[in-house]
Amino acid sequence: MFQSARLKLTAWYLLIIMLVSLLFSAVIYNNVSRQIERLMHMQNDRIRSFQFKPLEKEPPLISIEELQIQKLQLFYTLLFVNLGIIVIAGGAGYFLAGVTLRPIKLMVDEQNDFISNASHELRTPIATLRAEMEGMLLEKNISDKEARKLISSNLEDLGTLQNLSDNLLKLARIHNVASSQEGMEKVSLGEIIKASRKKVLALAKKKTIAISLNLSKSTVYGNKDSLVEMFVILLDNAIKYSPSHSKISVTSENSSDKVKVLVADQGIGISDQDLPHIFERFFRADKSRSKTDGYGLGLSIAKNIIESHRGSVSVSSKVDQGSVFEIIFPLISHSVC
Ligand code: ADP
Repeated sequence: MFQSARLKLTAWYLLIIMLVSLLFSAVIYNNVSRQIERLMHMQNDRIRSFQFKPLEKEPPLISIEELQIQKLQLFYTLLFVNLGIIVIAGGAGYFLAGVTLRPIKLMVDEQNDFISNASHELRTPIATLRAEMEGMLLEKNISDKEARKLISSNLEDLGTLQNLSDNLLKLARIHNVASSQEGMEKVSLGEIIKASRKKVLALAKKKTIAISLNLSKSTVYGNKDSLVEMFVILLDNAIKYSPSHSKISVTSENSSDKVKVLVADQGIGISDQDLPHIFERFFRADKSRSKTDGYGLGLSIAKNIIESHRGSVSVSSKVDQGSVFEIIFPLISHSVC
């Protein structure tokens, strides 16, 4: 598909370039031909006057045949120039069509990957649901206890499906919110981080993990709910991938026009080889796959939220020592506390 689109685009480039080139050639050929014909008339006049006044010395300078040859030569030169343009413009057009279509190809590939990953994740709980229900249908006598067991297992699978569809919807919604500027207002980053911490406090308590805050006063322009959601994702991960009795800290620091937030944990860390991929949709490090629940969508949702607020996110990490997520947002106003 990419190849045929590239060839079509090359053909369009070539058509436009050739139309322009042929138009210019026609204009040049027309003008020069007219000049040559004018010269030929002048020559004819001079030859005639020379025949009537043989005593005058001045002979005709260029012969008529020579002028006609010049005209023919001009025609061939323009023809070769245009053939050359076809070859060069064809090659250059093919290259440029590739460059133009590459981002579109990347987007389509990404979209296809996303669809196949999403279907893959959906398939497992659906298959489990189906197998359990079919198995139960074959049973002649189902006891109350067995029926309850089946229903609770089904509910678990349905919960997984709901969670996944919620995450997929969130990913789609972030783009809409960002482009429509819906719910964007001046918000205090400190309040947002405190609200996020409140939401994950129960989880942290379960693992006896302390979350300390050291925040500067910063006001940013953003969507409150999305920003809370983003910090909840980062804090939830920090708890999920940290051992019991460890510490998580959130600090923020203002510079002239930016605020930098650091979310640091003392968890399992991320290997150098996984680090470049953790913001990709559906990416999960093998280590996390076996240990915790998740689909690998959290960080890509967080990154989308940050970028829709004209911010940036990066991460540094050491295996078995911990990770630090650095988020930078443009500031509206600030004062250091
Ligand atoms: P999920 O947590 O559902 O797997 P995420 O997109 O939130 O998906 O994270 C992607 C992967 O990045 C995780 O599977 C995990 O391997 C890694 N990761 C994210 N946050 C941390 C963290 N704080 N410490 C260690 N690994 C992390």
